[in-house]
Formats: sequence, structure tokens, C-alpha cells
Amino acid sequence: MNDTRILLKLTGEAFLNKENKLDNSLIKAIAAQLKELQHSNKFGLVVGGGNFFRGSIQGKKLGLIPSNAHYIGMLATIMNGIIIKNIFDSMQLNSVLFCALNCPEVADQINQDKIDQALQENKIVIFTGGTGNPFFSTDTNALLRAL
Ligand code: UDP
Repeated sequence: MNDTRILLKLTGEAFLNKENKLDNSLIKAIAAQLKELQHSNKFGLVVGGGNFFRGSIQGKKLGLIPSNAHYIGMLATIMNGIIIKNIFDSMQLNSVLFCALNCPEVADQINQDKIDQALQENKIVIFTGGTGNPFFSTDTNALLRAL
């Protein structure tokens, strides 16, 4: 086992097929690759939500208060996280779902000790909920979680 830590960012569009409909085939293909590589690397995965909602696009269309719209976008990342975790579980790929927003029924609160423990146990760490703050993107979150 080498201890290289790799952070992947998965845009919400990875959950869509060519017809823009929800589809799990790309996620399953990524899961299969992670399963092979998991023995030699430790993975973190930052999940986007743009397939469901982007605050600055759909929020504007609906005339929402911007901060509310961005929270919907962050909630979208949690939905994708649940989908990924479910697919990983079904493929016997060990992972832990973390969320920057409190959502204890479905994900653990972000906690460095818990993240380190999960990585030590060779589990894939899935980050959802973005940074937990409106007006950011999950690309910013990828940088934050990589650090
Ligand atoms: N978002 C946010 N704060 C964050 C991360 C995301 O407010 O820290 C919101 C923002 O509205 C964004 C949406 O969540 O448009 C979905 O994230 P993103 O657009 O980055 O998803 P992706 O493009 O990767 O699918």
C-alpha cells in the first residue's frame, strides 16, 4: 500500500446521459476503476450538484433569493452523494459519506479525525454539501478538501 492521497472532483453532469437524463453508467465505471486502484491509493471524492440545481442558473430562473438558491445547489450535491454511496455499497467498495451541512440521517459531519480514520481504513471519503457556504462552487470545495 502506498499512501498517496488523490482527490477527485466529480461534476453533477457525470450523473447524466447524452439525453440529459439521470444515469448511473459513468458512476459505475468510475467505481470499478476506484476498486482496482483503492489498494494502492487513498481517495477523496468531491461531488457536484449541477445535474439537479445550480444556484446561479436555476435560482435566477425561479427568482429565488441567491443564498437560498445556493443552498438548494448544496442539497443537490448531497443527493448525488447518496447515489454514489449506494452504488459503491452495491459494488462492495467501502466509503464514508461526509457533508458540510448537518444532515445526520444520511451523512457524517465533516470531521478531520473521522476523515483520517476512514482513509486509514482504506475507505473512499465522499464529500458533499460543498463548502457549506452559499456563493461558492464545488470546484472551490475540491481545493479546500484537497488541502
Ligand atoms: N454551491 C454553493 N456552495 C458551495 C458549493 C456549491 O453554494 O460551496 C451551490 C452552487 O449554487 C452551485 C451548486 O451548489 O451551483 C452545485 O454545485 P456546482 O455547480 O459546483 O456543481 P457541478 O458544476 O460540479 O455539478
